[in-house]
Formats: sequence, structure tokens, C-alpha cells
Amino acid sequence: MRPARALIDLDALRHNYRLARELSGARALAVVKADAYGHGAVRCAQALEAEADGFAVACIEEALVLREAGIRAPILLLEGFFEADELALIEQHELWCVVHALWQIEAIERAHLHKPLQVWLKLDSGMHRVGLHPADYQAGYQRLLVSGKVSKIVLMSHFARADELDCARSEEQLAVFEHARQGLSAEVSLRNSPAVLGWPQAPSDWVRPGIMLYGATPFEQVQAEAARLKPVMTLQSKIISVRELPTGEPVGYGARFVSERPTRVGVVAMGYADGYPRHAPTGTPVIVDGQRTRLIGRVSMDMLTVDLTDLPQAGLGSQVQLWGEQVLASEVAACAETIPYQLFCNLRRVSLVYRG
Ligand SMILES: *Cc1c(COP(=O)(O)O)cnc(C)c1O
Repeated sequence: MRPARALIDLDALRHNYRLARELSGARALAVVKADAYGHGAVRCAQALEAEADGFAVACIEEALVLREAGIRAPILLLEGFFEADELALIEQHELWCVVHALWQIEAIERAHLHKPLQVWLKLDSGMHRVGLHPADYQAGYQRLLVSGKVSKIVLMSHFARADELDCARSEEQLAVFEHARQGLSAEVSLRNSPAVLGWPQAPSDWVRPGIMLYGATPFEQVQAEAARLKPVMTLQSKIISVRELPTGEPVGYGARFVSERPTRVGVVAMGYADGYPRHAPTGTPVIVDGQRTRLIGRVSMDMLTVDLTDLPQAGLGSQVQLWGEQVLASEVAACAETIPYQLFCNLRRVSLVYRG
């Protein structure tokens, strides 16, 4: 069998969930959209269900997968519904629903429901993606209230730059939110992972941690709370071929690496079709038999190449860690000019192996 696997440590997942709760002092919806950022939504939700206050996904398709797997906890739809006829399913499966636009309020007013809905009314406090305009917020709230169709409204917004710790924008968004919700006595939810870790001053009855559950930092710089996270995924494979090259020999597509000394090249069964970033350059750290070395040459679809010159004991069958505890996904992401979110979400073909 091809040795490419992603080990998923469910104890680490629970540790990170508890940390989100501890740091925020709030109830926490575990964000398991996009198949739990590539970690497997059903298995992750099952691992957390005994203690989680609930889950959040992007859309009803993702929620139904969890319901079909027997998850009974609350599930919030972060993008709400896309078409009014989803409301019947939302009611049937007792899903919580973000409302981010006036047309959605109208659809709820018109809907024929047997039970009232729980909605999270989203304010656009400055990210300018979705959410009600501050000038419409109070009126939207009142309309939902008098519609008779909702039993509870949570006030929510989303930060655009919470991962930038020295940026004033989150404070500005917070001020917009505070102004828009004046006089409304309802629970609030503002904080994603960077805000849970880095913005303790933001009020929260509910937090919405995503990336931190999977043990990756949302920050570019070192941050004390983020340092307490435990990586959940170990992406690993093995050396399947070794080459001894003299000086001046190219390796891989496009000869992007040419040996500058006699070089031992290890070929790893892992490529961009597995989700390893093709843009990772020569020098990106890779762990071979527990020791740090570097990627060399271009990443191809099913294989990549590493420098074994200074690891004489390594060879055919050596264990390779692409990311995990010894080399963090955030470090690989930085080398490839992306973010750990994308590395995780791009994972394909490798089998997920759970423990804990
Ligand atoms: C995805 C998402 C989150 C989780 O964000 P992280 O940065 O992964 O913690 C929280 N809230 C909303 C609205 C989201 O879409």
C-alpha cells in the first residue's frame, strides 16, 4: 500500500477544543466545515460530541452529513440558507441558521414552520462580505422578533483582521458592533480562532473556533496562547527511492534543483495530488526519521524529493513527516506562501488514520 497517510490525533483535537473554551470562558461551536478542515467532519464531531456545545458548518449539505452520522448536538449553518426551500430541512433537522441578508428575513417571515427557528443575525461590522448593514440591523432584529418564526436570536459578526495582533481594525469593528446592538439584550458571538487567542477583550457568549481546533496557529508571529495548541494532523509517508548524484545534476521537473555537491536524493511518496503544496520551494523543511532536512526540486503530482546528504542513516523505507509536531503546518504554509487552512483543506487521496 502507498504509505501516504494523515494521522489524526483526536486527543489533541479535544485538548484544543478545551483550550478554546478555557481562553474565552464562553460556549464554543466547533467549526467543522470543509470536512473539518480536511480532518474528517464525522469523526471529529463524534470525538467532540460528548463535550461540545455545538458545531458549525458552512451549509446544509455539510450539516446533513453530520445528522446522518447520528450527531444530535446543535449545528449552526454559517452561511445560512441559499434558497428559501432549505428552511423546511433546517426545521426538520433542528439546525441553527445564520441570517446575513434582508431577503433571508423576508423568507423566514413567509415560511410555514411548525417550530420556531434559532437564528444568528449577522452584522457586517466592516469585513464587507456578508451581514446586515449597521443601519438595517435593529430593524432586522425587530422583524425577526415579531415574525413569530424565531425562538432565539444570537447577535454575531466576524473579524477581517483578527490575525494581525497589532492592527486596530478589530477594535473598529467591535465599536461598530457595539453601536449596532445598543439596547438589544441577546447573546453575542464574534470570535473565530485568532480572536479567541488574541482578542480577549471582545465580548462573547459563544465563540467559533476553527483552525485552532486542528492545532494550527492563525498568526504569522509567535503568540503565547497559540503555542499551547497541539497539532492534530501528522501528514506522513516514506522514502520509496534513493539516488546518489554527483555535482551538477538536475532533480525533477524543470531542473529546478541542480546539485551543488555530491547529493543523496530521497524520493517521497507524496505530491500535490495529495494536497502537498506545489509551490513549496527548495528549502521547505521536511522530517526524515525524526531529523530535519529540506525539500529539493519541484513537487510533482505523486512524489517529491528531499535532501538526504547529511542523513546517511536514512534510506529506503525511512519515515517522512511533511507536517505535524516536528514541522508545523504553519511553517510549511509560510514557505509555500499560503496558510495552514489551505494546506489542510487541500488534502486528498491520503487515507485518514484516527487515534485517541
Ligand atoms: C470559518 C469560520 C470560522 C472559523 O474561523 P477560524 O479562523 O478557522 O477559527 C468562524 N466564524 C465564521 C463565520 C466562519 O466562517
